[in-house]
This record gives sequence, structure tokens and C-alpha cells, in this order.
Amino acid sequence: MRIIQTDKLTKKFNSFTAVDKVTMDVEEGEVYGLLGPNGAGKSTLIRMLTTLSVPSEGTAKVAGYDIRRDPDKVRQAVGMVSEKMIMYERLTAYENLRLFSKLYNVPKRDMEERIADLLKIVNMTKWADTQIGKFSTGMKQRINVIRALVSMPRIVFMDEPTLGLDPQSTTEIRKLIKKLNDEQGLTIVLTTHIMNEADVLCDRIGLIDKGNIAAVGSPNDLKSMITERGNTIVDLDLIDPPANAWEMFRDLKIVKSASQTENMVKVIVSREDAFQEIVTASTGLGLRLRNANINQPSLEDVFLHFTGRAMVDEVKGKVSSGMKHGPFRRSAGRGR
Ligand code: ADP
Repeated sequence: MRIIQTDKLTKKFNSFTAVDKVTMDVEEGEVYGLLGPNGAGKSTLIRMLTTLSVPSEGTAKVAGYDIRRDPDKVRQAVGMVSEKMIMYERLTAYENLRLFSKLYNVPKRDMEERIADLLKIVNMTKWADTQIGKFSTGMKQRINVIRALVSMPRIVFMDEPTLGLDPQSTTEIRKLIKKLNDEQGLTIVLTTHIMNEADVLCDRIGLIDKGNIAAVGSPNDLKSMITERGNTIVDLDLIDPPANAWEMFRDLKIVKSASQTENMVKVIVSREDAFQEIVTASTGLGLRLRNANINQPSLEDVFLHFTGRAMVDEVKGKVSSGMKHGPFRRSAGRGR
């Protein structure tokens, strides 16, 4: 069953379109990831779905309710874990959860049991009476996640749930997301700009760029969309290449798109048997090759393939990339 269905959902800030006619759906019981670089429109999209922001155009149904006509019903059906933790450091974990239970009008008779259950799920029972301010970031985030569950929502939205966490806490929170989905049957919609996070956590991923969903599928389906079309990914390790080596490859006839991070150039070639041609072309272009491999596509390659841009672009500011022809006219026409 579709638990979320959007219909040309759009958000404009003055003349800037942050979310552009997005039509997408989420199945009940799945973990759905919105994966895209910073500024892609992920938060704006989920803010509309949780009624924190009103759409400029279009609408959506969430848990059967229209976000414009029945915002109160939508609010009752969803929980939101935002990137910023909204908790009182001086209160204990239990006191924080009780406060939020009251805010969400959780019936008094259910409250104690629910809080106890939630604390158990995140292995925090013995910390119930400790002030939140004394917790590690990972422990705080565990409480922050269950805070969104006190009202027993059917869908939980998580905006960058592991942002700012150390590696150990990141692993913990990812496990918790899986557990909530597996054991509690919770539908989870999360945003992330971390490809590995989307890859390990999500049943389906919507790749989002510049307010548009460029492709949707399971991580494996998305990856095979590249290879099924007869494309091959060749990774080239070059010796002291110029910074624009990727452009030299991009301009070759058989190359669809190319990107470069320091001495590594990645090209997507439109034929399966083109490996040798690329290797020969490197020499022809006056480049020195240390190594070359055919690789399985990663979500990064998928993103490059569908959007014409490397996703790490804005995160690390290191990668250069481009396609000859954007797969979507609309994006191609917006002056990438
Ligand atoms: P993401 O969550 O993918 O990083 P956001 O949804 O936060 O992206 O932002 C998408 C775009 O909309 C960005 O360019 C951002 O600057 C812009 N934006 C977000 N909120 C506002 C706002 N309240 N006013 C103006 N522009 C905004």
C-alpha cells in the first residue's frame, strides 16, 4: 500500500524553486531514502510532507490524508527526527520523553509503558534518570529518535539522522533505523547526502538534484540501470594528470560522462567492450596511466549518470565532472 503519494509537489522561495513538481510515492513498511547533495531540496520536501511548510503548488497524501486539507491528521500520523536535536539538556531522558508525550497528547495511561518500551528498544533503560546533558552525542541521538516515536506514528521522517555523529554512533543509529523498520514495521523516510548510508539502509532511493527526483529504485536496481544499458565504468589511475583530464575523456566519442578526483578519472562508456579503447585513448591524449579497471557501478556513478553531476561536488568541492548530453532536458537547460 502506498502510504505517501505526492502530486507535482512544488516549493518556491520567491523566484527560486527549491522543490520542482515532485511526484513520488512511498510504500508502507519501507525505508525510503532521499539522496542528494546539500541544497538539493530534501529538507524542503520532507518539511512539506510533515506540514511544517506549505507547498507553493501541488499536494501530497500522507497516511491517507491530504497535507493541505487535513494537516492535523497528517501531523498525528507522522513523527519527525530533525537534524537539530530538540531536547532539554537539564532534564533526564525520561523527563524529556514525558514532556514530548504530553505535547503529543499521549494518553496518560499509555505513557509510562510506551516510554519504557522505547527506552528498551534503544538500550537506554538504565539511563532513564540521567540528565541528557551528560550523554554522548550517540546516546542523545538515540533519545532524539525515540522522542519522535512517543505518539506511535505510522511514518517517521528523519532529516540527515547521522549528521555530526562519530563513526560508532553512526553505526548505532543506522542499526536502530533498521531495527525500527524490521521489528516495529515503521515506514521510514530519511534524507541523506551520504551514498553509503542510502546504500545500506534503504529499500528504495529517490535521487534528488536541484529540486527534481532524477531516478528511483532499490540500490541494486539503480546500479543495474547503468550496466543494463550497455554502459561500462572505467576507473583510470593517472600519473600527474592535468586538472582537466576528465574533460579530455568526456570529449571522446564513446564516452558518456567523466569525472575526476585528483589523479583518478572515472568514465562511463556507452559500450561494453570499450575498455581497451579507453586505455589506448589515454596514451593518445598524452596521459600516463598507472592503472585501469572496469568497475561495478556505485550510487555515485548512478548519480553522475542521471544528473550529469558528481554528488560529492558540493560536499568536498574536489570533484569535477560532466556529461555531454544531460539525460533530462530540463536539468540540461538550467545552466549546469
Ligand atoms: P537539502 O535538504 O537537500 O540540503 P534544502 O531543502 O534545505 O536542501 O534547500 C533547498 C534549497 O532551498 C537551497 O538552495 C536552500 O538555500 C533553499 N531554501 C531552503 N529553505 C529556504 C528558505 N526558507 N528561504 C529561501 N530559500 C530556502
